[in-house]
Amino acid sequence: MKIKTDIVIVGTGIAGMFCALNFSKNKNILMITKTSADESDSFLAQGGICVLRNDEDYESFFEDTMRAGHYKNNKSSVEIMLRNSPEVIKDLIDYDVEFENKDGELIYTKEAAHSKPRILYHKDITGREISSKLLKQVIKRDNIKIIENMTLLNIIKHDNTCTGIVASGKNGQTSIIESDYVILATGGLGGLYEHSTNYGHLTGDAIAIAIKNNIELENINYIQFHPTSFYSKESGRKFLISESVRGEGAVLYNKNMERFVDELLPRDIVTKAIQKQMKIDKTEFVWLSMKHMGSEKIKKRFPNIFNYCLEHGYDAAEDLIPVTPAQHFLIGGIKVNLNSKTSMNHLYAIGETSCTGVHGANRLASNSLLECLVFGKRAAKNIEKNYRNLADIKRNVNLGDYNNLENLKSTYKNIIFNEIERINSDYGSNNN
Ligand SMILES: Cc1cc2nc3c(=O)[nH]c(=O)nc-3n(C[C@H](O)[C@H](O)[C@H](O)COP(=O)(O)OP(=O)(O)OC[C@H]3O[C@@H](n4cnc5c(N)ncnc54)[C@H](O)[C@@H]3O)c2cc1C
Repeated sequence: MKIKTDIVIVGTGIAGMFCALNFSKNKNILMITKTSADESDSFLAQGGICVLRNDEDYESFFEDTMRAGHYKNNKSSVEIMLRNSPEVIKDLIDYDVEFENKDGELIYTKEAAHSKPRILYHKDITGREISSKLLKQVIKRDNIKIIENMTLLNIIKHDNTCTGIVASGKNGQTSIIESDYVILATGGLGGLYEHSTNYGHLTGDAIAIAIKNNIELENINYIQFHPTSFYSKESGRKFLISESVRGEGAVLYNKNMERFVDELLPRDIVTKAIQKQMKIDKTEFVWLSMKHMGSEKIKKRFPNIFNYCLEHGYDAAEDLIPVTPAQHFLIGGIKVNLNSKTSMNHLYAIGETSCTGVHGANRLASNSLLECLVFGKRAAKNIEKNYRNLADIKRNVNLGDYNNLENLKSTYKNIIFNEIERINSDYGSNNN
């Protein structure tokens, strides 16, 4: 099957959807997604989204982001993200996204490593609130079409210009999608790990494709582990107990019911402290206590977490919750410039699969959704500004290369882990 469109966006998470909505209505946009449009990590985000509240908070927000990132962040990217944050939050509110407020005044919360409350949230389902409202807008737009259950297999290129993609549909049929621009918004790679908070279908496909096509990457060995996922022997995605729970005063205990770390330190430090404690205690988890908040507050502020724990045998108002670190976030990714362009012409990358440098060596809590929005919008604006039609370029694709999809899947997994191993052995691990 051959499809022609102006722009292809791979991925229907917050980055992909917000980017699509920022194109003018005269551009035909095709979005594809590996499963259904509402199955992305964006829907899972709990804690919230950061915003620069006022000029007085700039220095402090900038410093918190840099300190969490071990000062390896790209300062220009951080500045762009912070300065553009009020505008994208306003865009969301215009799309009917509801954040916690009192009589119309927004309420801000605080998470680990933030020195001030600057996080907007919607109960403990902020990602679902934002993503579902964006999806509604996308569906309304005549110029945007979503194809579900379609998997990106490769990009099509002509010299160093991207001219479309090869993808596989639900029935296994391979499609050639010709376009003027391709935007990769495929999220993280947690699906490659045994313990991860990510959806299992997020397997870093765009990263493997980038390596295969000599597209520049940055810091893909920087993998963030979240300190507190709900401990379970069940296989599959691990349920996250958001940082904002600790931001609201929850504490961690070892097996002797002693606190062993300052719970508000950055993620990588708390993760290491938990891993160390589990070794000392010879256990597979530590305990998280939310009990002091009381039943009413827990149910009101963290209904999703409360219900999940209850369904799994723990009443968060009465019981300690077993938690353990799990793979959570890809900090590095496909290297992009300040407008989200990759090292290949006509190819952009946004959201978790990209590396804008805003997170440095470790992401500050609630900066990821913000990065998706700010740099997703910039990609759309930059493409519009420099738009060049590729209609006269001939695309050559050998469909025989895509006959064995299982084989391709395991090849892509090996490509990624080999590259991570190569970087770690050349430069040392980031130890996140
Ligand atoms: C449990 C959890 C809680 C979180 N909480 C927060 C939070 O409170 N605040 C915050 O800022 N961040 C949070 N994060 C991180 C944040 O949610 C993600 O980094 C962000 O949503 C990533 O958005 P994205 O659009 O880049 O990718 P995603 O939302 O993951 O979307 C990726 C899309 O790409 C598609 N895709 C992948 N591969 C292919 C392929 N080969 N072909 C076609 N489609 C493909 C997927 O189907 C999906 O549609 C959390 C993450 C998790 C897992």
